[in-house]
Amino acid sequence: MTILTRQTDGRRPRLLTCHTRPPRIAAVSAPPAPAASGLTSERLAARALAAIPGGVNSGARRFPGVDDVVIVSANGATFTDATGRSLVDYHAAYGPVILGHCDPDVGAAFMDAVSTVDLTGLGVTPYEIALAEKLQEHVPCAERVVLLCTGTEATFYAVRLARAVTGRRLLIKFQGCFHGGHDAVALNVISAADRVGTKDPLSTGILPEVIDATLVLPFNDLDAVRHAVAEHRGEIAALILEPIPHNIGCVLPEQAFLEGLREVCDREEIVLIFDEVITGFRHGLGGYQAICGVTPDLASLGKAMANGFPIAALAGRADLMEQLSTVPGRPVMLAGTYNGHPGTAAAALATIEKMEREPVHDHIFRLGERVRTGLRSMFDRIGVEAYVTGLGSVWVTYFLSGPVRSYDDLLRNDADLYVGYRRRLVERGIFELPANLKRNHISYAHTDAHVDELIDATEWAVLRELEQRGAR
Ligand code: PMP
Repeated sequence: MTILTRQTDGRRPRLLTCHTRPPRIAAVSAPPAPAASGLTSERLAARALAAIPGGVNSGARRFPGVDDVVIVSANGATFTDATGRSLVDYHAAYGPVILGHCDPDVGAAFMDAVSTVDLTGLGVTPYEIALAEKLQEHVPCAERVVLLCTGTEATFYAVRLARAVTGRRLLIKFQGCFHGGHDAVALNVISAADRVGTKDPLSTGILPEVIDATLVLPFNDLDAVRHAVAEHRGEIAALILEPIPHNIGCVLPEQAFLEGLREVCDREEIVLIFDEVITGFRHGLGGYQAICGVTPDLASLGKAMANGFPIAALAGRADLMEQLSTVPGRPVMLAGTYNGHPGTAAAALATIEKMEREPVHDHIFRLGERVRTGLRSMFDRIGVEAYVTGLGSVWVTYFLSGPVRSYDDLLRNDADLYVGYRRRLVERGIFELPANLKRNHISYAHTDAHVDELIDATEWAVLRELEQRGAR
């Protein structure tokens, strides 16, 4: 890859990537075809179980009805498992896959970069510079950017930075929002009804004093925020939220709530953190902050930024970000062996450039709207109470009567039907994660024909599920 420096409209020089060599993807050996290698899906799953606890590398990859799945290939809108079954994918690996699986442009950019430069643990590469500038260009709060590997790291450093600059201890989060696995935020996501309103950690092994330092409030409830802030005046370092709580499907924020949070944070000198790991890039290149017009002090980004390559970012106000130890002598420690890896940075650049160049968002938003309206009229026709919601390329069908303002409302969801129809969809070759409150995503590789099939198959799956319960 050649890096050209070009002056754009008299502003500072920008680094542009230019692919001069043919992509070398063909050099990467494909996984062995199960039949040809004599490996069966069962044998592979057994080997996984013997080597990896539970046989999977994330606690969120194994669900009843889809256990022991070994994925051997993925392409466009589908993935294929070791039994040879192909599924149209609406799970999208929890959101990153926005262009479609194994996008050739992104893969080529990655291969090109890693055959040019890899990690040296010193300085910076042109890929990192170009990507940081891209984020500055698109994301309103991104006066400065650091590149990390995961969303968890991004929210971890955001909280550390907020505590450091304010000298305060407490953090506010909202019931239903997920911000990764670190101790300060690993609580109160999909809580059982009797745990709502109490501290509900996602794990054992978290120090009680860390849990004590996080206050959990209901989403879309500005009075609750004002009350907590008044009660703990001068003690709250940061307020963190998913601007749309997508970890419980899709609970749309009220504009007055987001604006009110900004006002409270300004008045009380609290750092406002938008966790845009899902909303960033999926809803638009500037994230939800560019849509709602409320600019946070810090934002975490990841997932759709690189179509599935492992890269994330922390972006924010220059005066805060310049406190990170990447600036010599500054007090807030930030380091990471793989931060800003040239390969993943190149993959992110290629993803963003494709979204700039091609009508990616137009396409996925149009299909998203078709799914939502199609499902609503289908449910009306068959007389099933369903609340179909979402934004852009994200949709979800809750089985409850609306409206939905916060997590409490989702306790009314018929979780058995929600999970049950999704398990049946697998029989029709469609994959929506069979887990309660999980959302669906459309990628640039999905088509109108996929949408038609989805609506038809959903009707079949919901009716079968209801029949089996004797509800029809
Ligand atoms: N924030 C949000 C909103 C997320 O959805 C996730 C992951 N689902 C994270 C943070 C953590 O990101 P990662 O899994 O990359 O650590």
